[in-house]
Amino acid sequence: MALTALDIYKQLPRTNCKKCGFPTCMAFAMQVAAKQKALTDCPDVTDEAKNGLADASAPPMKLVVIGNGDGQLKLGQETVMFRHEEKFHHHAALAVRIPAALSNADAVAKVEAVGRCKFDRVGAELKVDFYAIEIDHIQDPVERVRILAEKCSIPIILVGEDPVAMAACVEVHRALRPLIFKATSANIDAFSQLAATSKLPLAIGGATLEEMADLTQKAKDKGVDEMVLAFEAKEPAKTLQLMTKARRAALQKHFRPLGYPAMVEINAPSLENEAVLAASFAVKYGDIVMIDHAETWQLFPVLTAIQDIFTDPQVPNTVEPKLYEIGNVNRNSPVLFTTNFALTYFCVAGEVERSKIPSYLCVVETEGMGVLNAYAGDKISVEKVVKTLDNLGVADKVDHRKLIIPGLLPVYRAELEDISVWKEVIIGPKTAREIPAFLSQNWSSQD
Ligand code: SF4
Repeated sequence: MALTALDIYKQLPRTNCKKCGFPTCMAFAMQVAAKQKALTDCPDVTDEAKNGLADASAPPMKLVVIGNGDGQLKLGQETVMFRHEEKFHHHAALAVRIPAALSNADAVAKVEAVGRCKFDRVGAELKVDFYAIEIDHIQDPVERVRILAEKCSIPIILVGEDPVAMAACVEVHRALRPLIFKATSANIDAFSQLAATSKLPLAIGGATLEEMADLTQKAKDKGVDEMVLAFEAKEPAKTLQLMTKARRAALQKHFRPLGYPAMVEINAPSLENEAVLAASFAVKYGDIVMIDHAETWQLFPVLTAIQDIFTDPQVPNTVEPKLYEIGNVNRNSPVLFTTNFALTYFCVAGEVERSKIPSYLCVVETEGMGVLNAYAGDKISVEKVVKTLDNLGVADKVDHRKLIIPGLLPVYRAELEDISVWKEVIIGPKTAREIPAFLSQNWSSQD
């Protein structure tokens, strides 16, 4: 029977310490009762209470951990169908398949090429999350995994349906904590036994949701704790429907046999189609999306879509408010200021860098709001800008007293000149992309 908020509240420390992010223990208990939070989000809950409430209060989707050490990846533990309802807890992961048909040398070359595909965007490094290494029909699968694992700095998925090859690889490479992919009705007993004894996560595939639910139950009965539901995207629309139904069953009906993260194998007729499907399934509801190719032009839009969708909408995307030096600054470098909304900062910083004029960029704390929102919401003011510049000692770093302000805040000009040491305030452009032309026209002549 589902626990009430009161049942849960009675087991909490009831100190209202707010460490869980909620103002009171009762508010937290209500979230746990609604399956929106896990009991373990309260750091002070006792083991006794945890054990007592564990099953009833567990999130509707199991947390699955793949990989080890710093590189490990967490999947699942989602609580909502849509991001606007709360947030997604773990971003969709992208896996690139390393086919058995490749020679060891070609497989290494592919792993290295994929490893070089990294993109910096809004302060985050975007990259592929897993190598999915095929091990069936390879003369020495253990050696193949060893060779590739040496080149991998990211977790691996062992792809195969032969219990003998899988057991051999798991025995040698268990410490890497790979995902075993995949158990089907043909090998469920052997794969479940293997996953249970090695304590590794297991992917489970089935033609229907009923079959998947039966297989996860079988694996659970054998002692497998962490599982992933494995879908194939041969008919993408149908797969999307199945994945949506599975997620609804888990999150809304609390149907435990489908309460696991999902993964999907993309089989696409073209590279373009593969990228489109990968982005579509990453958004709904693939916790892992497995693709065959990793062209830079394919990966970037997919990783960008993942970054956009899985950003927590409740947490402003911010950068540290401080003085940033862009390029080899000197005592004649321009001084600009902007807000600490990450997107604003990275747009402005990127364009300043593109101008090739070394500059100081002073970031003012605005609770993660962009320039206009901060102005409208009273999160930025002339006094705050002056105080930030003073606290950071910006005037000591340059010989001039020229300050470039965002073009969206022209009203700050007169007051800034009145109350600060910055006696020549220059109104900058309204958009970041105009910065390079603005700096080259307005600064080089004054430098
Ligand atoms: S962290 Fe635990 S004790 Fe503190 S307010 Fe949250 S539920 Fe209560």
